Amino acid sequence: MADKNIQLFVPTFRVEECLNEIRECLEKGWTGLGFKTVQFEEAWKNYTGLPFAHYLNSATVGLDMAIDILKETKGWADGDEIITTPMTFISTNHAILYNNMKAVFADVDEYLCLDPKSVKERITDKTKAVIFVGLGGNTGRLKEIENICKENNLALILDAAHMAGTRYQDGTLPGKNADVIVYSFQAVKNCPTGDSGMICFKEEKCDEIARKKSWLGINKDTFARTAGTGAYKWKYDVEYLGHKNHGNSIMASIGLVSLKYLDRDNSYRRTLAQWYDEGFKNFDSIKPIKMAQDCISSRHLYQVIVNNRDELLLALNECGIYPGVHYRDNTEYRMYSYAKGTCPNSLKASESILSLPIHMHLTFEDVQYICDMVKKYAKPSCINGGG
Ligand SMILES: *Cc1c(COP(=O)(O)O)cnc(C)c1O
Repeated sequence: MADKNIQLFVPTFRVEECLNEIRECLEKGWTGLGFKTVQFEEAWKNYTGLPFAHYLNSATVGLDMAIDILKETKGWADGDEIITTPMTFISTNHAILYNNMKAVFADVDEYLCLDPKSVKERITDKTKAVIFVGLGGNTGRLKEIENICKENNLALILDAAHMAGTRYQDGTLPGKNADVIVYSFQAVKNCPTGDSGMICFKEEKCDEIARKKSWLGINKDTFARTAGTGAYKWKYDVEYLGHKNHGNSIMASIGLVSLKYLDRDNSYRRTLAQWYDEGFKNFDSIKPIKMAQDCISSRHLYQVIVNNRDELLLALNECGIYPGVHYRDNTEYRMYSYAKGTCPNSLKASESILSLPIHMHLTFEDVQYICDMVKKYAKPSCINGGG
């Protein structure tokens, strides 16, 4: 038992294919912006069907830029509000604060995604947008949230960091009409590189601004007109106080290969999830988080609710199994403690959710072993359901 070492996330890279892509960059002498970053943007647009995609060095900067550019183009003011979820990685909510806006937390539903009812209750005169996080690749009640946004003239920002490859059953892309979608290709996400992300705006105008702002605010129009001669490459204008947020060709090389295998990998993730579901069937003390009915999930996560999470986590570590927690209710953090206690479902989940290992190296036997150990150490609930 002690020889087991089953980690939560282990990314799979097709090493030879990645090296071939990277070799092209090295031989060409082009490792930076352009070349493979353009290829990856084209491949991503082709894969998702989205009209625009701009490659960045992380999803964190993507979320920051998403709000920054919507704020600029839609005329939002400092102190205006964005409704968001407390059940997310902190990048989502920092992005709101980077832009001097207020993060207003709505509660989550049984999918651990934003609950439309709670979102409605949090709308004020100052609300400008909703950020939806498709936790673990789930679409939750995204369609209802889209309607709420439409009815209340709010922008919709989709943090799709877990959603690379998630589709609806009819094949359509979740959030395809969102104002902006941000994907992550961070090292342990389900479409991994080393670090990078993609920002996909609905409007061309925003995509154009993003391309300037991701490279210090440089406007290349001046030298684009004289391109070919190369003589006036230095004659660009600087239109914004932009940042250094764009992606590079080495990361894009890895991304191109990961994308090629994304559907295949996600399909295996769904198989793993099914094995877990079967393993926990009829086991009252272990409640898997369900995917929405019409969601074909990327299955970035497989989460269960248990009664003795912290104790169980330690017991599993003893068996060589290393699960995780996604996430701690963000209002528990000092930075967001002004909203502490406003999202009871999220807080409750925060104390009882466990993410079980999910990656390409796991076998049916591994999943069975994990299920056996979880069932062995998960405590049945009290008769009153307390705890
Ligand atoms: C990972 C993650 C991010 C940030 O992605 P990076 O590419 O690491 O910056 C944002 N939101 C969620 C929900 C994430 O899980």
